[in-house]
Amino acid sequence: MDFNQFNLDSRLNAGIRSVRFQKPTPIQEAAIPLALAGHDLIGTAQTGTGKTAAFVLPILDKLLKGPGKRTRALIITPTRELAAQIHQTIGILSRGTNIRSVAVYGGVGAGPQIEALHKGTEIVVACPGRLLDHIGSRHAKLGEVEILVLDEADRMLDMGFLPDIKRILKHVPARRQTMLFSATFPKEIERLAQQTMNDPKRVAIGISAPAETVSHTLYPVPQHLKRGLLLKLLDQTRTDSVLIFTRTKHRAQRLAKQIADGGYKVTSLHGNRTQGQRRQAMNGFKKGQYQIMVATDIASRGLDVDGISHVINYDMPGTADDYIHRIGRTGRAERSGEAFTLVTPEDKKLVQKIEDVMSAKLPRQTLPDFNYGSPKPDYSKQNGNAEAKVNGKANGKSNNGTKRNPPHRSKRRAR
Ligand code: ADP
Ligand code: MG
Repeated sequence: MDFNQFNLDSRLNAGIRSVRFQKPTPIQEAAIPLALAGHDLIGTAQTGTGKTAAFVLPILDKLLKGPGKRTRALIITPTRELAAQIHQTIGILSRGTNIRSVAVYGGVGAGPQIEALHKGTEIVVACPGRLLDHIGSRHAKLGEVEILVLDEADRMLDMGFLPDIKRILKHVPARRQTMLFSATFPKEIERLAQQTMNDPKRVAIGISAPAETVSHTLYPVPQHLKRGLLLKLLDQTRTDSVLIFTRTKHRAQRLAKQIADGGYKVTSLHGNRTQGQRRQAMNGFKKGQYQIMVATDIASRGLDVDGISHVINYDMPGTADDYIHRIGRTGRAERSGEAFTLVTPEDKKLVQKIEDVMSAKLPRQTLPDFNYGSPKPDYSKQNGNAEAKVNGKANGKSNNGTKRNPPHRSKRRAR
């Protein structure tokens, strides 16, 4: 089985050759023929399974069959990094064609986006907020959109983008092909699908469980010893490419600094950084200029960085789904990876849930030469109660600079 089986427009061969995909992934194999046939489609598959090409190739094929210059495909995605990444994939896959794409997201100047929109672009890859700005100022014209993709739909709902999506939909023709991709399929997605789609075909690959190429280990540790344990763990690990998650942007910032003090090349990715800093962090991490990136969940969905060897959950994620998404950053496309999670006694319930989703008990590991008995520092005697203060300040604010603030998170932080 290879990509020839889809009978894609031959002008796409150059692009497919240059990404060097040998054969379609299961989601591509199932979704591409349905998408090519013009069906509405709901695709559910865990992260790292190749969903991007599953919608980009049918879009390109369809665009090649019609007129250019006007926006005929709209891809909506939750984060800037994802928009940039999809735009980039389109650039590669469309190499042998004249099809153009523009990435539309906030945090960067609107000028180049506006210019690209006016010059004419067949594909718009957008985050909801900035797209609405461009619609409002009449720079983005979506009246001839034929294909709409909602990528990472579960994440968009989590981040509170539903009202924005509904507003955008008013500017897109009702007669269109709609594809919705999601790693998980909660009830809200079902509802969104009912509202936006026409008799969709469903393609679900596997259950919502992490890639089997990832091995998982839990490291039980009291809260106050987390940092010490992490440094010890890093010390014992081949730290080529490690992604570390924290619960809040303040914790990400602080931990990155502490790890840097330990002599590592480290950067951070979170909502308190400017778009330029975020891009620089991502690129530096991708290129190996940084061995370690400390991030909030903003980095956990969809981002595709080659060869992440380890994902470390310094803080437990908010939900089992988030765990799966974070872990999806490693072991991508059948490479192997390791996931380490620091767990405190308070994380017990969530650990149970994750084990339920994975239908497996995860191994617990202790580090032999680590002093688990170190006493908790008495903060009341110092004015250095940074942890409590930082958490207190972060309370009620989103941890990644977006509109996200689901109730379970606030509860966790209020602890
Ligand atoms: P998802 O959106 O499902 O999380 P992506 O589309 O980001 O996954 O793809 C994950 C990784 O797999 C990317 O590095 C991509 O280049 C790679 N990939 C996609 N399709 C194939 C394929 N057919 N063969 C090999 N690698 C692939
Ligand atoms: Mg994706």
